[in-house]
Amino acid sequence: MSYGVIQHEVMHALSFFHEHTRLDRDNYVEVMWHYVSPVNQGDFKKDSGDTLSTPYNYNSIMHYSRRRGGAAAGEHTFACS
Ligand SMILES: [Zn+2]
Repeated sequence: MSYGVIQHEVMHALSFFHEHTRLDRDNYVEVMWHYVSPVNQGDFKKDSGDTLSTPYNYNSIMHYSRRRGGAAAGEHTFACS
């Protein structure tokens, strides 16, 4: 398990959500639903938590990479809005 994965899971333990599931995420990224594997679609649904007025962080340890959750290799599940 990589150091980044451990950091990510610790943040979840501290009650942080995924960055890409913020309510305002559509202002920053577009989920390419047609590339998201059906088994992973729940990981891309928006959460109802407060953003605490923090700026959207594309580089957050809590943000999936563009390749995460794709149905096939090379398919990007995010595009910048
Ligand atoms: Zn996670």
